[in-house]
Amino acid sequence: MDFTLPEEIAAFADSVVRFAEAEILPVIGPFEASGEFPREIVAKMGAAGFFGAAFPEDLGGTDAGFVAVSAISEAISRVAPEFGYCMNMQGMTCPFTIFNWGNEDQIARFVPDLIAGRLIGMFALTEPGGGSDAAGSMKTTAVRDGDVYHLNGSKQWITFANAADVGVLFAKTDPDADHRGISAFIVEPKRYEGFTANPVPMTGLSNSLTSNAVFLDDFVVPVENRLGAEGEGFRVAMNALEFGRLTVSARAVGLAQACLDEAVEYANQRVIRGNPIAAYQMVQHLIANMATGTDAARLMVQRMAWLMDEGRPATRAASRAKYFAVEAAKEAAAGAAEIFAGYALADEYPIKKYTAYVNMLAVGEGTANVQRVLIGEDALGIKDADRHPVRNRLRGSAVG
Ligand SMILES: Cc1cc2nc3c(=O)[nH]c(=O)nc-3n(C[C@H](O)[C@H](O)[C@H](O)COP(=O)(O)OP(=O)(O)OC[C@H]3O[C@@H](n4cnc5c(N)ncnc54)[C@H](O)[C@@H]3O)c2cc1C
Repeated sequence: MDFTLPEEIAAFADSVVRFAEAEILPVIGPFEASGEFPREIVAKMGAAGFFGAAFPEDLGGTDAGFVAVSAISEAISRVAPEFGYCMNMQGMTCPFTIFNWGNEDQIARFVPDLIAGRLIGMFALTEPGGGSDAAGSMKTTAVRDGDVYHLNGSKQWITFANAADVGVLFAKTDPDADHRGISAFIVEPKRYEGFTANPVPMTGLSNSLTSNAVFLDDFVVPVENRLGAEGEGFRVAMNALEFGRLTVSARAVGLAQACLDEAVEYANQRVIRGNPIAAYQMVQHLIANMATGTDAARLMVQRMAWLMDEGRPATRAASRAKYFAVEAAKEAAAGAAEIFAGYALADEYPIKKYTAYVNMLAVGEGTANVQRVLIGEDALGIKDADRHPVRNRLRGSAVG
């Protein structure tokens, strides 16, 4: 058993850190000031291969696998957490769902351009009525009329919706049939009328890579863009969220590591009562908890990724990793805030920003309570978390 990352994956993750330091941080300011979506940067990330690890080479991917996805997600989130969103929209939940559930034509039309960063993606499941029970609160309807569906309703928090060229969106084709009435669609917001996205103002998070309130007013989706069969959408969504938990947990590890790095540097240089505060044991206690939590979270995320690479069930591992990685990141953000004290609140330091992104990751892909329910029911023998087959086309498992 080897607990180190394969050399080529570790080297690639290092190159992601260097890229973010050289190609993102120096140029993001004007985008943040204007709110313009940084398409050029996303395209550069795509060209550098950031989004291709979960895709075969014939689609423009690198086939590097899920451990690589976790390492890249961690690296980008550590340096530029707002670009962590791209790992979902360009590298996982949007394109991987199309790859996993799409037919050959759908895959060829959308996946290569999404992972190259030439098309901007989104994943639209949550509605204003509540994200934790996505099926129960879904009011958006899709009514078929010949060769098209007409979609009406609204979505909430949809990341990149104001810039998206393509997305996976869920709506009810049978409003009376609970989760079995949900269908998945590949939508093209710029191509058809009836799609409006308004960024939700959120202090602390990016002004250019935003999450949005979406309104669908007779929005047209051609029948050929339906993803899977009518009524299969809930299965598609749950399968997608499992892979989303990989990137979200890895992004939480990246933020935990960033908090730890900043706190160590600050504790070593801040002198109080004639000593660097690093010399005080209560500060060491905070650092010890942050270092241990980050390390444990990383191992849990890598185990989930390894199971996915093996094509084995990873639902249990994904829930536990998502839950723990976010808790570790919260502890790291709180520890960093305590060590920085007043300066944690200053714009000059990144602690406020890290904390905001940790809070954001806490809700995405299932809140702590949602994970506790899954983990608790599994541990108690009420519902085996790994009872459902998971479709993982990259590794050829449960496809059919
Ligand atoms: C910045 C941001 C970006 C996002 N991006 C996207 C995106 O791109 N696409 C997308 O589809 N969604 C996105 N989301 C939505 C996200 O997935 C939801 O916020 C999340 O699912 C929680 O839903 P909610 O906020 O409606 O909370 P609610 O579901 O209203 O939950 C409120 C509280 O009740 C608790 N709760 C709910 N049910 C139970 C239960 N059974 N037992 C115990 N406690 C319970 C929850 O844990 C939570 O604490 C994003 C959210 C944010 C904030």
